[in-house]
Amino acid sequence: MKRAYRAALLRFDDHGRPLYEEDGLLVVAPDDQGRQRVLDAGSHAAVAPRHPDAAVTHWPGRILAPGFVDMHIHFPQTDIVGAPADGLLPWLENYTFPAESRFADPAHSREVAEVFFDELLRNGVTTSLTFATSHPASVDAFFESAQRRQLRMITGKVLQDRHSPDGVRDDTEQSLVDTEALIRKWHKVDRLGYAITPRFAPTSTDAQLRGAGELAARYADTWVHSHVAENKDEVKWARELFPQARSYLEVYNGFGLMRERAVYAHCIHFDDADRQLMRATRTATAVSPTSNLFLGSGFFDFEGADRIGYAYGLASDVGGGTSFSPFATMLAAYYVGREGQTKPGISIAPSELWWRHTGGAAEALGLAGTIGNLQPGCEADFVVINPQATPLLARKTGLAQNLEELLFAMIVLGDDRLIERTVISQALPG
Ligand SMILES: [Zn+2]
Repeated sequence: MKRAYRAALLRFDDHGRPLYEEDGLLVVAPDDQGRQRVLDAGSHAAVAPRHPDAAVTHWPGRILAPGFVDMHIHFPQTDIVGAPADGLLPWLENYTFPAESRFADPAHSREVAEVFFDELLRNGVTTSLTFATSHPASVDAFFESAQRRQLRMITGKVLQDRHSPDGVRDDTEQSLVDTEALIRKWHKVDRLGYAITPRFAPTSTDAQLRGAGELAARYADTWVHSHVAENKDEVKWARELFPQARSYLEVYNGFGLMRERAVYAHCIHFDDADRQLMRATRTATAVSPTSNLFLGSGFFDFEGADRIGYAYGLASDVGGGTSFSPFATMLAAYYVGREGQTKPGISIAPSELWWRHTGGAAEALGLAGTIGNLQPGCEADFVVINPQATPLLARKTGLAQNLEELLFAMIVLGDDRLIERTVISQALPG
């Protein structure tokens, strides 16, 4: 059965440019598998006559927009948001590893997975590329909940067989056996996807990284998900551990871990040869600005990425990141875009920030045309935004003279209160 939603409508064209209808209509219908997809979208005046049979829900004063895509987040770190530390390495040792060791317990994994998905959806995030922990139970808990909620979600068991304390360190051979078993169990089941997930090069042996690379070649449509060049102490450590590699990033390339659908968080301390390698291998960056500011890691070079031309999108990196809200992440990206800015103008345009957290992030994940947009064919994951959610938002969005001003008012002032409802593409029986 066709359904239609009438409200303002935000979409993006094939180049990532915004399309906006003040009086829009989004028409969704089940595909062959019963999955709700966008059938038609545009101005109400143009689209409505084509679908006289659709049942219309009218949301006056609201904006329909694609569900947000978070390119890098750690579900087991939900409880350690806002943990104070000197920097990345002490933060891992004092907060992260103790918190993650609890995910050996399936009941704890399940409990946190529910909190995590509730929080994502309250914030309008409908897909995330997600770290679990080294415990297979954490992956099962995540996928079971995501499957029940019919979400498009990606995660994987963390690989870390050295330089990690008891409780999170895994065994080289067993970790690869577990990874392959989890791929076979979950990858491409409903809307779930598996990511081969070495924590970062310093916590994996050569043998584990080599095994991960072999799995990445054998299961070519899985994701690869890790961290690189986040913090100067971490970069120095990686260089000491892998002296033969030209750079920290090159370590991953040497083990076959750079390819399409490989995503590395941070990528801050890069040179142009690293950026060229990202581009040549079609590897993407998950830019995590609240995390980078919080941990004092540094500033992602947006101009450098654009100059070389490789894929990136935005990410919260909770719990190093400080908020589940895409609005907080977009605003932090705007601040970071100021650092080292050489071109005149306003840092990053509001519509580009928004695209980098929806359609652009989907493209960087290899999911363009599937999620992150509301063009025909996309899965119908979307948010209903109330631009009058707070008195100041109502005032400020009411004063907006154009789309950029409207989007920027929401980016600067917005939080989860803007997200009135998150609609997930359901697979309907029959
Ligand atoms: Zn991270």
